[in-house]
Amino acid sequence: MPDQHHAMPAAELLALDRQHVWHPYGPMPGRQEPLVVSSASGVRLRLAEPSQGQDELVDGMSSWWSAIHGYNHPVLNEAVTGQLGRMSHVMFGGLTHEPAVRLAARLVEITPPGLEHVFLADSGSVSVEVAVKMCLQYWRSIGRPGKTRLLTWRGGYHGDTWTPMAVCDPEGGMHELWSGILPRQLFADVPPSGFDAPVDPAYVDHLRSLLSAHADELAAVIVEPVVQGAGGMRFHNPGYLRVLRELCDEYDVLLILDEIATGFGRTGALFAADHAGMTPDVMCLGKSLTGGYLTLAATLCTERVANGISRGAVPVLAHGPTFMGNPLATAVALASIDLLLGQDWQREVKRIEAGLQEGLAPARNLPGVRDVRVLGAIGVVQLTHEVDVAAATRAAVREGVWVRPFRDLIYVMPPFVTGDGDVARICRAVCAAAEEG
Ligand SMILES: *Cc1c(COP(=O)(O)O)cnc(C)c1O
Repeated sequence: MPDQHHAMPAAELLALDRQHVWHPYGPMPGRQEPLVVSSASGVRLRLAEPSQGQDELVDGMSSWWSAIHGYNHPVLNEAVTGQLGRMSHVMFGGLTHEPAVRLAARLVEITPPGLEHVFLADSGSVSVEVAVKMCLQYWRSIGRPGKTRLLTWRGGYHGDTWTPMAVCDPEGGMHELWSGILPRQLFADVPPSGFDAPVDPAYVDHLRSLLSAHADELAAVIVEPVVQGAGGMRFHNPGYLRVLRELCDEYDVLLILDEIATGFGRTGALFAADHAGMTPDVMCLGKSLTGGYLTLAATLCTERVANGISRGAVPVLAHGPTFMGNPLATAVALASIDLLLGQDWQREVKRIEAGLQEGLAPARNLPGVRDVRVLGAIGVVQLTHEVDVAAATRAAVREGVWVRPFRDLIYVMPPFVTGDGDVARICRAVCAAAEEG
């Protein structure tokens, strides 16, 4: 089928791309040539030109955790086009509409009990900004303006705008580059690794001592629950979330869970907080919220936080993005949630988990592999050295798979609709990438 969207030859497009377009964490001009994708369907990306003999790649990345239902899904397409015929956007100040209201109500219904109020934002980083603003404003409003700092554990990632950057892992997060400019937040050690490893009392003491020493200046603790994603792809025991909940209550500090990567089933529970049966004061959602269709994020908070803010001298939450509550994005988010919950998603995630366990096991015996770990629909191969991204990508593409390694990590989080054969293929590609990268 001729594709009218790619009238421009790939070579010409790449030349313009190189000349003008920034890519994530990229230099200018770019040094690695990106692949040109002309369309995507199911779990496959179609390339404008074959690469390593492949004209289609199975997406092992779900476009960075987001495309949980795969691409070009008829139900999600219909949600967008149906909404498009009614209105693609309308301002949210003074106006409201059904998709945003229904989405907010749905999020309250499916997230841990106690989260009652929803702020819709346009990206994950902005939702973290809003979460922190909620907490700072809460303390200010109730007469404790000295509580302004944040505590997190090392190895985290919370986004690339200023506030999130300050709580990203100080080594991976380029704090060096920004020293003297970034606000200095408090860092606990990396939580002990392993979903099944017992909660370490020494680490709990470590957290307690930081909270007790800094309770007067701490506004909030912010962490990624159970899985630390872009900060190093580490897993920890959900018990630490209950520990944080208890310590935050004891020392009167708010608790923010950043579920932007973990939300909507990725770790085997609908939200990572559900592994621990606890409720944070504030929760951030993003990435797979719209099934990867459009950018949208949400910050949820409890009655207590909302009431505190509303009792202040400035009794409003001072935030309001232009595209807040975008109808297309909220409509497709609702459809994506219905699609997820309307199927036995836990079985699908378990199936992929089993496939990743089996398919990545051989990587343990490869030279240069330090660790192999799997949780839910997330598979990680950690090398003993920095990945040669170009070589690893080439090896995976040769196997017909798209992966995007970083640092010493080759990792995958396939769409939940990835069939067993394609999961096995992804694993073969990761092993090849580990061997050659
Ligand atoms: C991706 C991510 C963010 C940032 O979201 P953006 O939409 O890229 O701004 C924040 N926190 C976590 C845990 C993430 O994985």
